[in-house]
Amino acid sequence: MESAVKTIGVLTSGGDAPGMNAAIRGVVRRALGQGINVKGISEGYDGLIYDKIFDMQAKDVSDIIQRGGTVLHTARCPEMLTEKGVLRAAETCKKHGIEGLVVIGGDGSFKGARELAHHGINVVGIPGTIDLDISCTEYTLGFDTAVNTALEAIDKVRDTSASHERVSIIEVMGRHAGYIALWSGFGSGAEDILLPEIYDYDEEKLIDHIIENRKRGKTHHIIINAEGIGHSTSMAKRIEAATGIETRATILGYMQRGGSPTCRDRMYGSIMGSNAVDLLRDGKSNRIVIFKEGQFDDCDIDEGLAMKKEFPINQYEISRFLSSSYTK
Ligand code: ATP
Repeated sequence: MESAVKTIGVLTSGGDAPGMNAAIRGVVRRALGQGINVKGISEGYDGLIYDKIFDMQAKDVSDIIQRGGTVLHTARCPEMLTEKGVLRAAETCKKHGIEGLVVIGGDGSFKGARELAHHGINVVGIPGTIDLDISCTEYTLGFDTAVNTALEAIDKVRDTSASHERVSIIEVMGRHAGYIALWSGFGSGAEDILLPEIYDYDEEKLIDHIIENRKRGKTHHIIINAEGIGHSTSMAKRIEAATGIETRATILGYMQRGGSPTCRDRMYGSIMGSNAVDLLRDGKSNRIVIFKEGQFDDCDIDEGLAMKKEFPINQYEISRFLSSSYTK
């Protein structure tokens, strides 16, 4: 079957996420294998606006599936928010014969892709963000690695926290979305998980819970705090003053973003990359590759961006129940 596009481009945009390299490899090898040329675009939309474009061959993606970050580099590009920036990006695509573009990133990056679609470029998005905060898909590249990195670090803090009979506040990434906090808190059996979606900022209640647990015989208390709530260090001071129990804050920070992707991120990245090429080959545009109800699929960018994600409150409640129903 003849491809609808002869040349495609690939870029990564927004925050880097483990698994992006697997997706790049998937795009490059699937395209070349079907006679489609591939141009790599460095530094996200910046690379399109400032013409940082190069030919990619199969060997260029050797030895990257296991690497975190993105070999194409990524950037936030404010110029893409302007009509002039979008026009320049579209012109660069035309100059290089890029008829189809694969954009690996989050919701913001998909908005940029949608703008390019309005200028005649066929675009397909791949969800790549550690935050899991894209509504149209149940999976985003990087989440699995990030949450397991956080979990491993929390386990380590827990060992020392239990030994010293402390309260530990561990701040994990997630400015607007609490999925990393929910999952890593659940997986580490944390006593409290503070999520931007549901935390009521009632610190008295939190303190009562710590005191109550101590009375029940629990010798440590782990609080997972999402970045969106923040203030972990000052919170620790207030808790220590109110309870008299030594309280420490640990902010995990960027270490959660990096590192070698899990098998799941590598496999899903590869499949999503490959599927994105097939959509372009078939003449599709303005699509996002998604994972839903156990299947890889795709959806319209406008519909995907308009969707609202329902936060799984029941998962939070189960975690809370299991860590609270403790008697010595
Ligand atoms: P992450 O989840 O890691 O933050 P993201 O893709 O949502 O990823 P953003 O910073 O929101 O990250 O967007 C990345 C880039 O996409 C922006 O720097 C900008 O270049 C482009 N972009 C964002 N919003 C728009 C928009 N409304 N129109 C055009 N381009 C946009």
